[in-house]
Amino acid sequence: MSDLGDLPADQARLWMHRVAGWAAEYREKIEEQRITPDVAPGDIAAGLPPAPPEHGEKLAAIFDDFERLIMPGIVHWGHPAFLGYFGSTTTAPGILGDWLAAALNVSAMTWRTSPAATELETTVLGWIRGMVGITEAFEGVVYDTASVATLHALAAAREATGLDVRRRGLSGAPKLLIYASEQAHSSVDKAAVMLGLGEDSVRRIETDPELRMRPAALRAAVARDVHARLRPFAVVATVGTTSSAAVDPVPAIADVCAEQRLWLHVDAAYGGALAVLPEGRWVMDGVTRADSVVVNPHKWLFVPLDFSALYTRRPEMLRAVFSLVPEYLSGDAEHAERNYMDYGIQLGRRFRALKAWMVLRAFGRAGIEARIREHVRLARQFADWVEADPDFELAAPVTMAVVCFRARPAGMADEDLDALNTRIVAQACATGRVYLTHTRLDGRVAMRVAVGNVLTTERHLAEAWAVIHDAFDRTLLG
Ligand code: PLP
Repeated sequence: MSDLGDLPADQARLWMHRVAGWAAEYREKIEEQRITPDVAPGDIAAGLPPAPPEHGEKLAAIFDDFERLIMPGIVHWGHPAFLGYFGSTTTAPGILGDWLAAALNVSAMTWRTSPAATELETTVLGWIRGMVGITEAFEGVVYDTASVATLHALAAAREATGLDVRRRGLSGAPKLLIYASEQAHSSVDKAAVMLGLGEDSVRRIETDPELRMRPAALRAAVARDVHARLRPFAVVATVGTTSSAAVDPVPAIADVCAEQRLWLHVDAAYGGALAVLPEGRWVMDGVTRADSVVVNPHKWLFVPLDFSALYTRRPEMLRAVFSLVPEYLSGDAEHAERNYMDYGIQLGRRFRALKAWMVLRAFGRAGIEARIREHVRLARQFADWVEADPDFELAAPVTMAVVCFRARPAGMADEDLDALNTRIVAQACATGRVYLTHTRLDGRVAMRVAVGNVLTTERHLAEAWAVIHDAFDRTLLG
């Protein structure tokens, strides 16, 4: 093989076909896989050479090693009994869109660097906005993850204080504060770290028994800080918390933000998808009063990792922080109304809109609605099994497709319950037939399953419940 140029065309074509066949078969037979690999830290790396080969190798050898060395260390997130985290699932149209984006390898940084990438991004963002009931007053931008979207939203909020942090930095600035509930995602703290505010600038507000932020506690905390001459500037409300999918009371939180002129960012990374259902629209109540909102199609809208949509009513604040046009792109700046490089820290940006476009078209709005509704039904079904079992209880209300529950056998002391539930999760996962996680609610360990995979059916949940029950029995006996 020549040391110059790409692979010979016939080989490239052959292997693209083979990989396509492999991926199709992987998806068809994914249920046969053990979900978690049976490996120890370092096992996979131990099989890999410390340096790349000096000369190019045959794809056949590379592909063999992919199957022999890499696959044994894969967790099968796409398995229908993978019920961890927010089961960010992949789908056939999502895979196809990602492949096409890889083949094109364009950068969606300015309109001129690929007009279709920019215009499709704007179009797809508009589609999703309409599907989840966000008004056209909000403009969107795609980032990789919700963590990054929230970082950008809070950077815009910091600029909106008028302190001109972009130019002057933070020296001499008052202590800036962000408010979020005790249940809000850790990405809020990471954003505070990245923005130079420090972790202690995030005030965690207490929640009610349903794990929703208490607006009265928020109001009191802000008043206390204002009185102490500190500078509250942003509130993050969550629609679909990480542990239990709780929904903060956004309208009442928006009232506090309006009174105190605070930026309201809504983290609807997971829960925004529920608003696709007419009966789920309530989760977006009050969101039109927010300054920004993030929705993650890679969590529950069937778009593969990564794709996170930030919408803001104040896009000019994002531009105020991030627009910085180097000389070599100055021509591009004159060329277009919108260059997405002006809305974030990244310059080079993947063509993520393509996979989202393919998923939305292949399933259709009604198809997405039906899948989400089915996931809600399945979660409710699972919750019914839990509630009907005298040895188990729900640990939080079921609002979406997440069920938090715990084993609570009669007569067991409270202090032993955490260890019992932790062991059940570990044992159930160790079977390789189900994947669930644990969380801590009100200081107590709870098990957690999340339904979000288009391949998951009632049979998979029934099997998962049987595995969990078996782990419970064995833990009690052993
Ligand atoms: N917000 C919520 C409510 C989450 O649950 C998560 C992750 O699960 C995030 C934000 C972060 O999402 P990402 O992985 O896209 O950064």
